[in-house]
Amino acid sequence: MEEKGTVSRNFIEQIIDQDLNEGTYETICTRFPPEPNGYLHIGHAKSILLNYGLAKKYGGKFNLRFDDTNPTKEKTEFVDSILADVKWLGADFEDRLYFASNYFDQMYEAAVKLIKKGKAFVCDLTADEIREYRGTLTEPGKESPYRNRSVEENLQLFENMKNGMYEDGTKVLRAKIDMASPNINMRDPVIYRVAHMTHHNTGDKWCIYPMYDFAHPIEDAIEGVTHSICTLEFEDHRPLYDWVVREVGFEHPPKQIEFAKLYLTNVVTGKRYIKKLVEEGIVDGWDDPRLVTIAALKRRGFTPESIQMFVDLCGISKSQSSVDYAMLEYCIREDLKLKRPRMMAVLDPVKLVIDNYPEDQMEYLDVEMNLENPQLGMRRVPFGRELYIDREDFMENPPKKYFRLFPGNEVRLMGAYFVKCVSFEKDENGKVTEIHCTYDPETKCGSGFTGRKVKGTIHWVAAKTAVHAVVRLYENIIDEEKGVYNEDGSLNLNPNSLTVLNDCLLEPALADAKPYDSFQFVRQGYFCVDAKDSKEDALVFNRIVSLKSSFKLPKQ
Ligand code: ATP
Ligand code: MG
Repeated sequence: MEEKGTVSRNFIEQIIDQDLNEGTYETICTRFPPEPNGYLHIGHAKSILLNYGLAKKYGGKFNLRFDDTNPTKEKTEFVDSILADVKWLGADFEDRLYFASNYFDQMYEAAVKLIKKGKAFVCDLTADEIREYRGTLTEPGKESPYRNRSVEENLQLFENMKNGMYEDGTKVLRAKIDMASPNINMRDPVIYRVAHMTHHNTGDKWCIYPMYDFAHPIEDAIEGVTHSICTLEFEDHRPLYDWVVREVGFEHPPKQIEFAKLYLTNVVTGKRYIKKLVEEGIVDGWDDPRLVTIAALKRRGFTPESIQMFVDLCGISKSQSSVDYAMLEYCIREDLKLKRPRMMAVLDPVKLVIDNYPEDQMEYLDVEMNLENPQLGMRRVPFGRELYIDREDFMENPPKKYFRLFPGNEVRLMGAYFVKCVSFEKDENGKVTEIHCTYDPETKCGSGFTGRKVKGTIHWVAAKTAVHAVVRLYENIIDEEKGVYNEDGSLNLNPNSLTVLNDCLLEPALADAKPYDSFQFVRQGYFCVDAKDSKEDALVFNRIVSLKSSFKLPKQ
């Protein structure tokens, strides 16, 4: 146990501290219980890292459990992606990978137990009738006419349900609690339904399936989960959760604790909306780098460390709020700043010829990988008479305070020499096609030259050795100014969310970059090799984030 008063605790930790102090539990066990009906997103990452983090902090256990009690939507594609995402985030569930569908027998027995205790009954009302009988927030519900069936009759009918004697929707098993409860969840909730459907794990063994509110507490209790952490919308379901564990009679009942969901401002996180974008082909799959699924963040070049930092910064709270996407960007910049090399890449190339540099000469300049982190060492960058620079680094008629290249001006070529623009050529459309400079051999970087100063430094790559690449720039997929939805309820898409630059040129050290490798391209941002579209001889980079930030870390 940590010393009291030295570290501030969030409200969940305070509950755990108390439970351990009072001996309610000896050790803790948490879980992440995804329904395999889509890919995980940044909100789930928060839940995963919260649950895993607590288990680690208190020397307890963390389980991964697929909540696959619903036979309609589950797909093995989703199971596989969720497993990969949880592992990638570093949430180690060791050998504790569970499937709720493996507990169907125990759930069935629990239901039988409730029937025997007179706490559950088979009801023949239709779904509409059940809704009608349920009452409202201001009016109590009405008891079902089937509520007082005998235990024997209920046992028989429930067995018949299991044996496939009834059509879907004709009979349900309901908990017998209180139709007058102020909490609607307690008004004889349905706990089992008939559904003649094949389940991805249990096949056709079952034609009755438990409802979430009944299944979830049983799953937790079977696994010995102590703190069942979920999001706020389940707060009103907690009395039912407690009722189930109590009435089924688990010796060490788990405790449900709710926290607020993570929302990102103007970012689509709901599975439903992401699914829509995927199904309508608006994005390139669930891992399209513009999305905030974990798979997409990974593909875009985010790191597990940056997501952990983000989740830590967000903190845990009971009140709903929305976090700015800029905070996520801040985290990946912070993570990559010292870790990754700073390389030269020209995204919109224009040729630069150094007229007084020997025609066939190449030289190799030693350049630091990362000026702020000498541990990354040096690399050799080839330099020659013909180079490429970024088009925006030259202007024929510059405005005031433009310190880059223009006729007559001298700039530093990063890590190389000073060059002075002597002339340039244009095509018939007025587009600059070639810039001519002279260089001063005395100004070689690292030569000890202490002469005149220049105000601008620009990046470049040598024409002969340049590596070709496609670079993709991203903006938010939703137009932030106008909000997430249009008046007709459709998503308000940003038409500029993807820009593809097909003719980028990189320094040759980048030729061997592998999928998920990331770099800073000086002045352009952080970029990552796309794992899906990049080939050994046809590199594709995604921009993770630009260098500039509007985000300031709030004062603690
Ligand atoms: P969504 O509706 O956003 O797709 P979900 O709640 O349907 O999510 P589940 O697979 O049921 O997805 O959720 C698994 C776990 O993740 C649950 O414990 C849930 O509370 C948690 N979770 C889901 N969304 C968020 C979020 N935005 N922030 C924090 N936790 C979340
Ligand atoms: Mg859900």
